[in-house]
Parts: sequence; structure tokens; C-alpha cells
Amino acid sequence: MTAPSPASWRKLAACQGIDPEVFYPASDEDEAWEAKAICAECPVRQACLEHALANREREGVWGGTTERERRRIHRQRRKSA
Ligand code: SF4
Repeated sequence: MTAPSPASWRKLAACQGIDPEVFYPASDEDEAWEAKAICAECPVRQACLEHALANREREGVWGGTTERERRRIHRQRRKSA
């Protein structure tokens, strides 16, 4: 199965219509819970996460992860490559 194109997965995003500020909390870990709760129910969470990893998105919650968590994923993938 191929990953959906950004245009197609964005149409299914659970965050559509939600205030984008929810996904850009001031403090990465402490205030990300609301965005993470929305992402947890999102049908395109994996595609969103892969998009953020591929594009080195530095800010915000993507695919249920904070910037710090995405850095950790990058490190883990580098180690196992
Ligand atoms: S995983 Fe989260 S940020 Fe990504 S599209 Fe879904 S709700 Fe939006």
C-alpha cells in the first residue's frame, strides 16, 4: 500500500475546522494533550506523522507527536538504519 498524497490525507484530518493554535501549544509537552487527544482519533494519523518527519516539521503537534517526540523518532530510525 502506498501512502496517501498530502492532498488526500488532509481531507480526512480530524483537525479540520479546529483552531490551529491547539496544535501549536506554547509549551511542547505540558499543553499538547488537547491536540494529542484529537490526533488519537484521527484516521490519517500515520500519514500526518510521516509527512512531518519527512519535512522536518519543527513546531506543533503532528500525527500525535510533539517536536521532541519526532526528534526521538528520527534518532531511533537513524540508529536502526
Ligand atoms: S494526526 Fe493530528 S495533526 Fe495530523 S491530521 Fe490528524 S488530527 Fe491533524
